[in-house]
Amino acid sequence: MSLHVETPLVHSRTLSLRTGKSVWLKLEALQPSGSFKLRGIGAACEVHARQGKTRFVSSSGGNAGIAVAYAGRQLGLPVTVVVPETTTRRARTLIEQEGAVIVVHGSSWQEANGLALQMLADPEAAFVHPFDDPIVWAGHSTMIDEVIAAGVQFDAVLLSVGGGGLLAGVAEGLERHGHRCPIIAVETEGAASLSRSVCEGRRVELDAITSIATSLGAKMVCERAFQLARDGDVRCWVVSDRQALDACEQFLDDHRVLVEPACGAALAALYEPTMDGLQDVESPLVIVCGGATADRAQLDAWRARLAG
Ligand SMILES: *Cc1c(COP(=O)(O)O)cnc(C)c1O
Repeated sequence: MSLHVETPLVHSRTLSLRTGKSVWLKLEALQPSGSFKLRGIGAACEVHARQGKTRFVSSSGGNAGIAVAYAGRQLGLPVTVVVPETTTRRARTLIEQEGAVIVVHGSSWQEANGLALQMLADPEAAFVHPFDDPIVWAGHSTMIDEVIAAGVQFDAVLLSVGGGGLLAGVAEGLERHGHRCPIIAVETEGAASLSRSVCEGRRVELDAITSIATSLGAKMVCERAFQLARDGDVRCWVVSDRQALDACEQFLDDHRVLVEPACGAALAALYEPTMDGLQDVESPLVIVCGGATADRAQLDAWRARLAG
């Protein structure tokens, strides 16, 4: 039994009228952990449990950490999440609410991750990577199985890119069903490690993440995502934080679902009238990847910051 749920696939009347296209939404925001991450991370945790691991360790203060915590609770195994001091109170609460132990260590993810790796001296502990793991990609690919099984027509997939696990999983699902179509891979300015890498023809590590879309804040994408973007039918787009945030607010009004700017980035490609890379697309499938770490107050705080 998988830990994720089958999510609704809905036709968006509002976005279709707005864009003159037939827009489908895969509502991964409705996963019990609040994001698509549960698909891949749940699958990875199940494999580790079958292989005899008795505890999970994560160093993500975001949706990956929440997904590991959720998976551990469902499987009855303890979880430790090591996060840096910068992790928001809300994210800590969400992780603790799933029964995981939080250890706060260091001022950056690198330091937290260093401590998490030390905990793996215990051979019964499994480290769960947020995006760079073929089991995680296979788990994510199940969202495409559901869309294909529903029989809807789509001629492009729109999604956001952080470390590239979602991109790798969606590409795997499309490939499995022989469904050829472009993937529009969206990042925000200040977190655009994939688009930079494609421009430079090599995998680039960003000096810093400056976007509010912290869930897209991998300084370097995984090798698989880079290969797909270089060799496959992947179009890289970069939107501003403001465009991503506008899209979150519009989407909340239109579809009554609150998502993080990391997800708003992909939605911005439809809400933004100046985006012109979709002329040849008639029916985009948007992966509404979700994200649990923003609430209304946080959206307001970002709005104030971007206005200032
Ligand atoms: C993790 C995450 C992403 C990016 O996924 P990657 O697999 O790292 O590319 C996008 N949106 C949300 C809400 C996320 O949690």
